Amino acid sequence: MPRHDRDEIARRSGHASWRAAVEATADLPQQEAGRLLGVSHPTIRLWRAELGLAPGAARPSAVDRAAAFRADLQDPRHGSANGYRNLRCRCERCTAAWTTYQRDRRG
Ligand SMILES: [Zn+2]
Repeated sequence: MPRHDRDEIARRSGHASWRAAVEATADLPQQEAGRLLGVSHPTIRLWRAELGLAPGAARPSAVDRAAAFRADLQDPRHGSANGYRNLRCRCERCTAAWTTYQRDRRG
């Protein structure tokens, strides 16, 4: 569905844009959100997926989990190459572990 049609649908249901409409109804069951916005519930599912609001989106994303890890200096993963590279932590311990890891790899 072209973007302007989505926005038209959203305006008919009193929202500024389809993004605003999807976000405003994100907590409702798909059927109910569909009824409010005047679209089918598979459409709601599609729209939510496009905005990253798919079912299970309440679960923290990898990005959020990495941020939580970085904020918790007691986490045992600090001081690991994984912490530096995959979780993008730049604390002293992770940075040192990454330096060591790189040095060891080069031999
Ligand atoms: Zn760290």
